Amino acid sequence: MKELPKHSVGIIDSHAHVVKEFFGEEREEVIQRSFDQGVVQMVNPGVVLTNVGELVDIADRHPNIYIALGLHPHEAKDWTQDSEDLIEKMSSHPKVVGVGECGLDFFYNNSDHDSQVKCFRAQCRLAKRLNKPIIVHCRDAWDEAFDILQEEGAGKGLRGVFHCFTGGPEHLPRIAELDFYVSFSGIVTFPNAKALQEAAKTVPENRILVETDCPFLAPQKVRGKKNEPQYVWYVAEKLAELRGSSVEQIARSAADNTRLLFSLPVPILN
Ligand SMILES: [Zn+2]
Repeated sequence: MKELPKHSVGIIDSHAHVVKEFFGEEREEVIQRSFDQGVVQMVNPGVVLTNVGELVDIADRHPNIYIALGLHPHEAKDWTQDSEDLIEKMSSHPKVVGVGECGLDFFYNNSDHDSQVKCFRAQCRLAKRLNKPIIVHCRDAWDEAFDILQEEGAGKGLRGVFHCFTGGPEHLPRIAELDFYVSFSGIVTFPNAKALQEAAKTVPENRILVETDCPFLAPQKVRGKKNEPQYVWYVAEKLAELRGSSVEQIARSAADNTRLLFSLPVPILN
């Protein structure tokens, strides 16, 4: 493997699905490898509500892993009052730092439009009520997602991030209006991601997060492999190249922004 561009400053993977469903028995090794490579903290968001116990267990055992609870738009048709009650109840756990991931996905449409909207709005309200940021998954649904977030109070108590951002420069003014963060994944390293790369050049530095969204979307240098949090360095490396900055600077700013958004403490390192 090509050597990672890691730096002593450390980095945060703001969105990593390090769970058994994706990593099986290798889960703990993947976590350890990431820490060994300078990933100092990570946020592990829920996609379904059937593994909340596993997420809490991981967070309990690893001081530097935080979790978020939510229902992905693919599963939105399964949203019930019980879902909301479960997220609300478990969110009193001190390692639950956000609501999500949730949002709209009109590319796959695994759940129908109305179920997705209902599920997304409910989680926006929950996030606001719990005073936790929301982690937004948005695919082919920009205008509707922007409108919903605005109506649900973005910038007025509702805070959050567009995770695994796939938009272009044209989406940034609306995101700035909502006062949301933008999280870049390995997609920004793909040679054909030109509009996304243009956007990456102009997002204000105090709004940038980096993530892997592992096990999906391995960055170009490790494309074809299963993605894992240590490869978040390649995302920072690409952003540094696009912005005429350094890996260290991007890692530091993104870590500061992630800590601010999710109210994370400075990490405990041993
Ligand atoms: Zn995700």
